[in-house]
Amino acid sequence: MLSRSISIIGAGISGISCAEFALKLGYKVFLSEISNKDIKIKNNKNLKIETGQHSDEILNSNYIILSPGIPQNIEIIEKAKRKKIPIINEIEFGSWFCEHDILAITGSNGKSTTCMMLHEILVNNGYQSYLGGNFGIPFTKNLIRTMNNKSDRIVHVLELSSFQIELLSNFKSDMSCILNISQDHLDRYINMESYVETKLKILKFSKKTFYNNKDINLKKKINSDHNPNYYKIDSNTSSFRINNRSIVTKSGEILFNLEETNFVGDHNLQNAISACTLAFHYGVDKNSISQSIKKIKPLNHRIEYIGQYSNVKYYNDSKSTNLNSTIKAIKSFEKNVILILGGQNKGFDFSELKSFSKKIKLIFCYGDSGLDISESLHPYFKTYFKSNFRKCIIEAVRMSSENDNILLSPGCSSYDQFDNFEKRGDSFKKIISEIHYV
Ligand code: ADP
Repeated sequence: MLSRSISIIGAGISGISCAEFALKLGYKVFLSEISNKDIKIKNNKNLKIETGQHSDEILNSNYIILSPGIPQNIEIIEKAKRKKIPIINEIEFGSWFCEHDILAITGSNGKSTTCMMLHEILVNNGYQSYLGGNFGIPFTKNLIRTMNNKSDRIVHVLELSSFQIELLSNFKSDMSCILNISQDHLDRYINMESYVETKLKILKFSKKTFYNNKDINLKKKINSDHNPNYYKIDSNTSSFRINNRSIVTKSGEILFNLEETNFVGDHNLQNAISACTLAFHYGVDKNSISQSIKKIKPLNHRIEYIGQYSNVKYYNDSKSTNLNSTIKAIKSFEKNVILILGGQNKGFDFSELKSFSKKIKLIFCYGDSGLDISESLHPYFKTYFKSNFRKCIIEAVRMSSENDNILLSPGCSSYDQFDNFEKRGDSFKKIISEIHYV
């Protein structure tokens, strides 16, 4: 066996970045990719790549790094477990070498938005914040960027999905936060319980840990066994709490109203209070937090306002890949919602939307799960099904009338017709602009 060697399974962006990081540290790296795709990485005498298979050569390393999209029940991992080779992930590996503070955020929804808010507040206040993890920039890529940086203001804001938490073992963060827990990923976890337990694992890796006290699922589950040093977000004893549509301090002083920000929907107040609480505990003063948050622009594909044509408003919420995020999007509107649902259903019962009959006018469904969703909602709404995304959008536009809000908030993953949620959202925007300008 080689000394200081790792095998990386999966050559996606985090796998490649992890390989580059490990090579910089002097590791021998074996990168294994099941597809035959072309892997773009600089040649290095310590790097060996295989494609089209996961061979037993993987087992010749000290550690195996499994990419988050690959489940643990594949054959090579079973073999590695039998041989007692430690199986870790890119986040765990990177954290062993991280010399700066890590602020880690997880939850079922709102991770990217909250991480972005926290990152922006920190940057506005003179920190060199590096935003990474599930956000789309690998943690190890940011570690490479900070390698020769001697600044004492560096901090990593790390978005963690449950898949990324699964294989953590010695990871340490300075603060961690769980935003909320709702049903998700039941296509990967055997039940809700095991999904929740994976999320809660993040708490034990942190010096200080925070959770949203208003989230019923979290409130029921969290206790001092998870971490004795935990803080509630949005309780009477917290630094900040939500009051009506504002965030206020313990003494009741208003930090800001939702209307003063560029965000819509009460769920974004929940995201903001988490970002503000973490920033405050990290040392940013409340006035600077309030000034910073008012400047922040929402991320694309999250109830993103596209524009108004013929008195109909268009919103792109393509990042909504579970039922709870669709519910939050619907709640952000008063009425006249023309809702577009569909894609690959991860196991949700969409008939739960029946309680929104006052807000939803029509429902259009597309894709793999579109017909089933349409039928489940048919008793409560006028529903339409068109398998093809484009045709479905065109039909929704055709059926709309003045003062409607056409909302793409699919509640399903995009992979049946798109590479990812960004491509789905971009396609939505393109179709809308073609309909109105061509
Ligand atoms: P994540 O990174 O957890 O997927 P995002 O911030 O990218 O979270 O938002 C994903 C989807 O969830 C979007 O549809 C967004 O409108 C919705 N969303 C954002 N924050 C929340 C929240 N706190 N609770 C429920 N849904 C939310």
